Amino acid sequence: MTSSDRIWQPLVEELAGRQGAGRKSEFWLRDDDAVDPMPALDRLLDLTGEFAVPATLAVIPAFTDEKLVARLDEAPHATVAIHGWAHRNHAPEGQKKQELGAHRPREAVLDELAGGLSHVTDLHGARTVPMLVPPWNRIDADLVSDLGSIGFAALSVFGPPKPAPLAVINSNVDIMDWHGTRGCRDHGLLVQAIIAHLQHAFDDEPVGLLTHHLVHDESAWRFLERLFTVTAQIESCAWVPIRTLIGRCAGRGK
Ligand SMILES: [Zn+2]
Repeated sequence: MTSSDRIWQPLVEELAGRQGAGRKSEFWLRDDDAVDPMPALDRLLDLTGEFAVPATLAVIPAFTDEKLVARLDEAPHATVAIHGWAHRNHAPEGQKKQELGAHRPREAVLDELAGGLSHVTDLHGARTVPMLVPPWNRIDADLVSDLGSIGFAALSVFGPPKPAPLAVINSNVDIMDWHGTRGCRDHGLLVQAIIAHLQHAFDDEPVGLLTHHLVHDESAWRFLERLFTVTAQIESCAWVPIRTLIGRCAGRGK
C-alpha cells in the first residue's frame, strides 16, 4: 500500500461500510469565481466531465459574458449559480470582506442581486440555477428573507445550514488552505473532514465540496481526481445535481 493509499483507505472503508448498511453517500460540487473560459476552468470541466460529476459554477455576474456561455455549451454537466454581483468588498478595512453585508441600503444590495440573476439567466438560460452563492460565503441575515421575492430559490454558503425561508444547500468541505499555504489542504485532513461530515451530518445533508479552479495547485487537482476515482468505485456513492438537492428542500417545505 502506498502512503497515498493509506491516506484514502479510511474513506474507502467508510463508504463501503455505509453501503453495507444500505446507506447512500451523497456529494455535490460547487466551484466559485468563474467569469471567463480559461485553462483552469477547462481542466475542471474536463475532470468533472470524465467522472460524470455535475458541476455547479458560481459565476460573478458583473464580469461575465457570452464567452463563458460558448464554453459551457460544450459542458452539459455544468450548471451556473449567481456569485453575488461583482465580488466587491463593501466592509470597512479590518472587517471580514463582504459584498452582501449591512454596509449599504438593503434595496441597493437586492437590486444588484436581482440584476445579477437576470444577467446570468439571460446569458445561460436553462443552465441557470436560481441559487445565490454570496461572495466570501457571507450575507447579512436580514437579506435572506427577501431573496425569494427577487427570484432566488436557494442559497449556498459554507458550513451547517441555518433555518431560512428558501432552500439552503451549503458547501462544507473547502479543499483550499486559504490562510496557510494557499494551495490544497492536506489530503489526509480533507479525507477526515469528509468522513466526519458523512458520519455527523444532520438529516443526511450531502458532502458539499467547495473548489476554486482559479487557484488550484497540482495537489488540488490530484485530490479531486482521487476523490472522484474513489467515489466512482462505490455503487452507493452519488454526485448529485444541485437541482435535485433544491427540489428535495422545496419538497420538505423549506
Ligand atoms: Zn468567490
